[in-house]
Amino acid sequence: MYLQAFAKGNPDNLLAVKKFRAKAQSHEERRKEMQNQWVSLRLSLNLCAFARNAFPVFLLGLILLCFAVLKAHANGNAQVVINMSPQGEVRIEAQSSTPANSWSFRNAYAGVLGIAERITDFRATTASEQDAGAKKIATGEFRSELPANKISYRVNVSKPDAADVSHVSWIIGDYGFLMLGDLLPQSFTSVSVRFELPGNWGVTSSISGDANLYQVDAPEKAIFFLGRLFRKTSQTVDGVPVTTVLGGSWPFKERDALGAATRVMKSYLELTRFKLPGGAFIIIAPLPVKVGDTKWRAEARGSTVVLLIDPDADFNNWVGQLGVIFTHELFHLWVPNGLGLDDDYDWFFEGFTLYTALQTALKLKMITFKEYLDTLARVYDSYLSHADDLSLIEASERRWTTPGSLVYDKGMLVALLYDLKIRKESGGKTTLADRYRELFGGRVAANAGGNEAIIALLDSPPAMNGFARVYVEGRAKLELEQVLPSYGLTLDSSGKQSELRVNQDLNAEQKKLLRSLGFRK
Ligand SMILES: [Zn+2]
Repeated sequence: MYLQAFAKGNPDNLLAVKKFRAKAQSHEERRKEMQNQWVSLRLSLNLCAFARNAFPVFLLGLILLCFAVLKAHANGNAQVVINMSPQGEVRIEAQSSTPANSWSFRNAYAGVLGIAERITDFRATTASEQDAGAKKIATGEFRSELPANKISYRVNVSKPDAADVSHVSWIIGDYGFLMLGDLLPQSFTSVSVRFELPGNWGVTSSISGDANLYQVDAPEKAIFFLGRLFRKTSQTVDGVPVTTVLGGSWPFKERDALGAATRVMKSYLELTRFKLPGGAFIIIAPLPVKVGDTKWRAEARGSTVVLLIDPDADFNNWVGQLGVIFTHELFHLWVPNGLGLDDDYDWFFEGFTLYTALQTALKLKMITFKEYLDTLARVYDSYLSHADDLSLIEASERRWTTPGSLVYDKGMLVALLYDLKIRKESGGKTTLADRYRELFGGRVAANAGGNEAIIALLDSPPAMNGFARVYVEGRAKLELEQVLPSYGLTLDSSGKQSELRVNQDLNAEQKKLLRSLGFRK
């Protein structure tokens, strides 16, 4: 199956919210520069098309925004009313039991800056209905002279662009997404939300409720889909609810989208043996803006996956394309969204996710073994096209401020090397998948440092002792030409593009190992 070119770019760009905030300015510069560097890899599948603003990767799809969970500063409950006018204007009123004189809104996220500039007409009112004297002191920062229990403001959500459309709230035409992470003050840690919508509009979300009341305990993860008309289909996969919501007209049926998601979910439930408590809530809607070559954008936040696709995209196999996108995006519901680990361990939740998605696409017969090998060869070429002078941990910390795509390319190739080595050392008895089972089996505590925890996990089998210390903590460069022959693979870099091939004369051990990966000759 030929699924459109893989995009070369930073697959999701999401997760790194914490670090991104600290590096906002430099990332913005980088982002603009990189928007011009988007290179199509022409891999056999379009796995992630990661964000247009960044580095290369192989991938399925496009901008995946993966996503880490922000931890808000506690300060209270609020009753929120979100009013949307027929023209798509959003006005928000929030009443809080705890008075405050300072409100701070998210201004940077996933490579997008200036989000809070959309907030205007901010007012604050005291408990005695007196004007509290609110002033804007910086973008997204408001202060009042008197303590206030009520605030109100407008948010202009009518102008998303190609870079931010899957990451921030927008309403255009017949559809829209409202993401509480960029609509509410960051101090709101628990809210009840009521929507006032035009008569023929509806709202849906992974959170149970209706327009009159949604109780939201983690606003930074909450996404609401609004529309005049959408179709919702649900199914339970091994006890885990999977829902698809479709807005717009598509050349595939609802049940086909749900079927593709279900196959991938089933595969990841088997891989991790961890039942996502929130299930998977997948929203597919038309992209409201023109984008580049990669015709879709995605984000995985909490238990929601937002997938925006250009309805005019010339995918020759829409359901196949959806499946490939799901292999990356849906895995983010587990890693990192289901883990709750701290640190910038992007090398794992992006790089290792890329490899796991590719393996899964192969296992589910969405791609052939040749496409699997071709993808790895192209990722290696991408890896070689940039300097590798950082460890994967350093590259993760500097993901937004350094060129290249080390976190993705090297992370993915290190996952390959890990999988090959452990399969060989164990005579095929264990694989990288076993580490995921341990990860979700209670071996790693929530809130642990992601880097330390994952490195210790990867290095735990005696045969793998020191592997992650060398390839993740250390600055070891990858030389696949030297390493792969012992596994029965040859990397030929003599041509314009590298080729990865299975050797003609495999020994019995190599044949067994490659067959366990999906080789069928
Ligand atoms: Zn990703």
